Amino acid sequence: MTGLGLLDADLSELEQWAAVARYGVGALPAQLARAEVLLDRATRSGSALRVQRARLVRAQLGRRAGGVVECAQVGEEVRRWAEEHGHRLLLARTHFVLAGALSEIGDRSLALEHAVRAVDGLPDDAPAAVLADHRSRLADTLAQLQDPATEDAYAAALDLALQLDDRHRVMRVFNNRAYTRFELGDLEGARDDVRALQEEARLDGTGLDVSERDTVACVLLGLGQAEDAAAVVAAGLDPATLEAATAGDGGAELLLTAAEVDLVRGKLGPAQQHLADARQRCDARGLTWLRLRVDELQARLHAARGEWQQAYEGQRAYTAALLRQQSVDREVRAQTLHALHDTAEARRETRQYRELSLRDPLTGLFNRRHVDEVLPVLLRGPSAVHVALVDLDHFKRVNDTLSHAVGDEVLRRAAQLLRDAVPTGGPETGGFAARMGGEEFLLVLVGLTAADVVDRVEALRVDLAGAPWAPLTGDLPVTASFGVAHARPGQPAPEDLSTLLSRADGALYEAKHAGRDRVRVAVAVAVSPRASG
Ligand code: GH3
Ligand code: MG
Ligand code: MG
Repeated sequence: MTGLGLLDADLSELEQWAAVARYGVGALPAQLARAEVLLDRATRSGSALRVQRARLVRAQLGRRAGGVVECAQVGEEVRRWAEEHGHRLLLARTHFVLAGALSEIGDRSLALEHAVRAVDGLPDDAPAAVLADHRSRLADTLAQLQDPATEDAYAAALDLALQLDDRHRVMRVFNNRAYTRFELGDLEGARDDVRALQEEARLDGTGLDVSERDTVACVLLGLGQAEDAAAVVAAGLDPATLEAATAGDGGAELLLTAAEVDLVRGKLGPAQQHLADARQRCDARGLTWLRLRVDELQARLHAARGEWQQAYEGQRAYTAALLRQQSVDREVRAQTLHALHDTAEARRETRQYRELSLRDPLTGLFNRRHVDEVLPVLLRGPSAVHVALVDLDHFKRVNDTLSHAVGDEVLRRAAQLLRDAVPTGGPETGGFAARMGGEEFLLVLVGLTAADVVDRVEALRVDLAGAPWAPLTGDLPVTASFGVAHARPGQPAPEDLSTLLSRADGALYEAKHAGRDRVRVAVAVAVSPRASG
């Protein structure tokens, strides 16, 4: 390999490492040092592209060590450079990095715009791992906004990670989705994810990292399993493990959770000890937000001991500090955002872009672009993929006899039923629902047997026809016809998207002609072998 080839390989490796963000003991300082070395090599190579890549990855790692504002600034500089010089992969990566930084800074909607661009802007030949990372961040960003597309986005991210067969990426999705579900009060969903996460960690042999432990403990505590939560936390409390915490917070967050778990268990002494450790780490690292949680928990601890005066004063001091911190934050945020976005026009344009780019605005389902992008990746993977084209029957009548507005509402409700038909069960199964256009939808089902797919689609047909439509459509029934096709992965060559969809379309046509409101399955045809790979 040439010198530049080696530099590229080293940069790629570090970029991967930075994106996966699952850190071993002592890893972050070592990788930051590597980033410095690579920046130096890039500068000496005289290649501007490589210098920008090295700057970006250094900023990305720096964010983990607390440099979030600088990360956003460097990210924006590199973004402009990549845009001017037409480097699409680097440009998409800057959006990925900016999405992460802005989430942390607290501008969630701007973070979402970057996350969408990180996915949409990826060139076709981008590595599959990069797509998986960008999808995963998009899901996290949607989750922060409590966007209805969050579950779909996590399902898509999980599919991609599973296709890659990359355990750490799979674990990241489970971890983040578990935390999201927990925060939204979906404790059962969170419990399933936590179980899957623990199983993956067991298979991996490295155990849970600090932030994963924090997630698992919070969920267990939420489920009322305080003793189990305590066991999970305890295994992460040795100093070296805490030091390696992903978010660069030195494990302060896990210590806080440990204090909370002990408080719930009535072990007030240990709770106080963990809280003191957490406070010390927060002060040493300038973790202002976590420091507030320390104060709040301290007030609760006083209350638990019956120290009412201290509890009351602590609570008041906490509230005052919270307000102070919010205004400091607003200031920092305003400055950063000013640096990031020159004009109001630029932001409006990105908002529109978001609406057009990824999802169908009427139903919130994924759109055709998403299908074009994700389905080919699924088809290259090892899991069975089924698609069902869904077309509402005589839908024109709804519009003509009732109104277009009623038609829209029918589409929205049908979309919800489709969304519910996607399995959320285990790590091996998944899929998503999309609106292909008009009153035509697509259901993509991954990892199910042909028999399960037919059952599921048939159940969807029955649910749709039997839904309480009368208040909305009166005498007009609402039904749909379904054309199912099974993609044959791998052997001897994956089927392409358009062949698969046209087979599903053929089956749909048969369903319509046989009288509508029914499911037809395309007969499997042999794939002709390709001459070479
Ligand atoms: P078939 O059973 O053969 O599918 O009959 P159909 O009436 O459903 O099919 P056709 O394709 O003739 O009509 C589809 C209609 O869907 C026409 C169009 O007015 C309506 N449509 C498409 N997009 C929308 C939309 O966004 N909102 C509403 N309300 N109607 C839409
Ligand atoms: Mg129709
Ligand atoms: Mg149609």
